[in-house]
Amino acid sequence: MSKFSIVDGALNHFTNSPTPFHNCANLVTMLGESFEKLSEDEKWEGKIKPNGKYYYTRNTSTLVAFCVGGAYDASNPGGFKVIGGHTDSPNLRIKPCSKNGTSAGKITQLNVECYGGGLWHTWFDRDLSIAGRVIVSTPDGKFTQHLVNLKKPVCRVPSLCIHLQSGDERASFKVNKENHLQPIFAQVVKHTLEAPASKKAKTDEAAGEKNAWREGHDSTLLKLIAEELSIEVAQIADFELALYDTQPAALGGANEEFLYAARLDNQATCYTSIQSLTQYAANKEMLEKDADIAMVCLFDHEEVGSASQCGAGSPIMGEAVRRVSSALNNGGGNEDFFQTTCRRSFVFSVDMAHAIHPNYASKHEKNHSPDLNAGVVIKTNSNQRYTTNAFTGFVIREIGRRKNVPIQEFVVRNDCPCGSTIGPIISEKTGIRCVDAGMPQLSMHSCREMMGTHDLQLCIDLFNGFFELFRNIDESCYLCS
Ligand SMILES: [Zn+2]
Repeated sequence: MSKFSIVDGALNHFTNSPTPFHNCANLVTMLGESFEKLSEDEKWEGKIKPNGKYYYTRNTSTLVAFCVGGAYDASNPGGFKVIGGHTDSPNLRIKPCSKNGTSAGKITQLNVECYGGGLWHTWFDRDLSIAGRVIVSTPDGKFTQHLVNLKKPVCRVPSLCIHLQSGDERASFKVNKENHLQPIFAQVVKHTLEAPASKKAKTDEAAGEKNAWREGHDSTLLKLIAEELSIEVAQIADFELALYDTQPAALGGANEEFLYAARLDNQATCYTSIQSLTQYAANKEMLEKDADIAMVCLFDHEEVGSASQCGAGSPIMGEAVRRVSSALNNGGGNEDFFQTTCRRSFVFSVDMAHAIHPNYASKHEKNHSPDLNAGVVIKTNSNQRYTTNAFTGFVIREIGRRKNVPIQEFVVRNDCPCGSTIGPIISEKTGIRCVDAGMPQLSMHSCREMMGTHDLQLCIDLFNGFFELFRNIDESCYLCS
């Protein structure tokens, strides 16, 4: 066990959140009982009040959580202090027809699809398991959603052994995403012997029913899911499943100064932002005098461009501002009211950042080369791949200064393409002021990533400072934004 409970909590969170659905569910658990659940398909008027704490999810993979300051006054409305991040990470996902038949060596494989821009060569020779959400039919003719996590390593994408490759092939190792990433799942002999023998999970035939969708999937896969959920195979109506590496998150480095885990991008932000929000919400004195709404929005589908019903490109951010402020205004509010609220708001968009890699130091421009364990990174790109400008960057630097959190700077080299994140998308949709930042890491989009242990706490300190100090700093600026 680490001496830092915050780090232990983070390690557990990363290990137990193999998909955005698990990530979201575990973050809701972190919020605790003091946060009241809202449903998007029910009226919020009369439910949301100053000093209240709330959350809702969309698609069970995007999470919005917030607390309303005790001094919120709809006649002079406060703004939204939003920390934004994303819940998804690149991975391999099981296709709608996963049955891959029997290939060479009587080996059964699963059909998988690449989600996002993973470093796919890192998925070879890992002990992979399967997790996701399953739609389950119930005996009374209804349907319900369950999370499933097989936990044991049932899949593997083996690399081609060295003796079967020429020197040139080894030197130019290239992954064909369709041909080379289909995992080995079972071997036919064992597979056919064992599939019908299960007592716990009856097959469709045993249940006297055929189902075209289930026919498209390997019967052993369906059996494993049914057993894990203690249901019958015939109850599996649909699913969204992904592969993940079973190796648990771990502390590393000679002094435990590093953290090794899958999906640090961007579960590290999910974890730290919800930690910060719960700490802020528990501080009665601070919440009582707050005139704003402190909010965390963690979106799905960032890795594939955010254009979805629950991604940052959906109306969800603007709707959150409108709906929450309208509910606080007894269901009222004209355009003037909403625009005032938006102009008093600010989005702190936090995604992971690129730390300097000692073996590839020339990939960074020397004045903008963040280090691990040296604080949060502000990302700037004058071509607007990041939203940071003089004002929004200043706000975060000033919070860092007051809270003793070191701030680092990142600008990509002119001869290198630049990544992007949710900041520009939210800015474009809502016109709300925004900054892009993140914790430094190495191996971004690898099956196993790496970051600095101390950056977790530094990030939480900065988030706490954002909720505490934003209004004061914003009001002390004149004609800046
Ligand atoms: Zn990211």
